[in-house]
Amino acid sequence: MKQENKKNSSYNKIRNNLYANVERHELTERKTFSIVALSALVLASILLFVAAMIESGSKKEYIYVFGDTEQELSEKLAFSDGVQYIDMSALASFCGMDSMDGGFAINGTFISFTDGKSTAKVNGLDVSLSKKAIINEKHVLIPIEDAKKLIFGIDIDVSVEKTVITATENIYMIAKNVEFDYVTDVSAYLGYINSDSDSILILANKKNGIAEDFAPSPLVEIPEKYRRTDRVLKLDLIAEKALEAMMQDMFALGIDDVCVQSAYRTYAEQQNLFNNYVNSEINKGLSREEAIANANKYSARPEHSEHRTGLCVDFFVPSCMLELENYGHEGSYPNDVGFTETDAFPWLLENCWKYGFILRYPEDKVDITGYSYESWHYRFVGLEVASIIHQTGLCYEEYIELFN
Ligand SMILES: [Zn+2]
Repeated sequence: MKQENKKNSSYNKIRNNLYANVERHELTERKTFSIVALSALVLASILLFVAAMIESGSKKEYIYVFGDTEQELSEKLAFSDGVQYIDMSALASFCGMDSMDGGFAINGTFISFTDGKSTAKVNGLDVSLSKKAIINEKHVLIPIEDAKKLIFGIDIDVSVEKTVITATENIYMIAKNVEFDYVTDVSAYLGYINSDSDSILILANKKNGIAEDFAPSPLVEIPEKYRRTDRVLKLDLIAEKALEAMMQDMFALGIDDVCVQSAYRTYAEQQNLFNNYVNSEINKGLSREEAIANANKYSARPEHSEHRTGLCVDFFVPSCMLELENYGHEGSYPNDVGFTETDAFPWLLENCWKYGFILRYPEDKVDITGYSYESWHYRFVGLEVASIIHQTGLCYEEYIELFN
């Protein structure tokens, strides 16, 4: 029994010791846990505080000023890859564009963007952007530099502290650097087509006369296969080379019955032409005054004729000409039929800009150009200007007023 008691008491001692140890250990553990938890809490608080401080320091709002309205964009929205962006939705509404079908429309031009893609679509054609577009529920963000290129006539001024956007009165959507192909290899002519010489931008109309002694230089002959064979026709060198590229492509497409029937005219030639028109109007029974007024609608006094610049051509399709019963003045077409019914006309309308040419006297711009609709008269202005005119639907007078 004793022994058992002894045993028991030893056992109890051990047990008690054990319990005490466990208790102490638990106490220590609890203490440690409390300290760790407290430390973590403090640390987390510090971290949160620091993060908040950092964020409040970098959380800049960028203010985009669109006339009377302002738009705020956070840095996260205003910048991507170090490039500053602008919200096309806000810009478009400021420019009076219609937002539709995920894109923006103005003056017959429709432009759209795809999230994450560095191309825009302008009237179905791909236009490169310098960086990808970023689209979310509220914004269509594109780099400011691309917006400047895409919207002609807008001035986007970026200040250090905020972004101020100002715009000119007339805004037109425009895509530069539209990608397209030529029909044949015209690489030998590209230098001329892309010319940005000031000399090719001369404006000659009824308000802007050109001097009697004006002489384009140098003038070169249009190859015989591209002109009416009974006439020697000359053109400004740059325009002539661009014309050759255009004719080469038209011929390659089978539009090979078209030819140039009039190009550069001297002062004297234009004077004679105008006088002949006046006389033929007089022969129809008009007074001299009425005859001059009538001739002025489709021809010009020598100081006002664009043909004296050596930068424009009148096209001609002999087969079409013969079928016409009532064409207008000699060697040309009536205002609304004739050349428009040839294969050449729709092709030229759609493609002449690629060679730097424009339809100079469009049907809907008679009041501005001062000339009747001339579907056959094309003027060389160089690829860049021709591209702008083609895509905006401006006539040359409007282009000059807006951009020069
Ligand atoms: Zn003409």
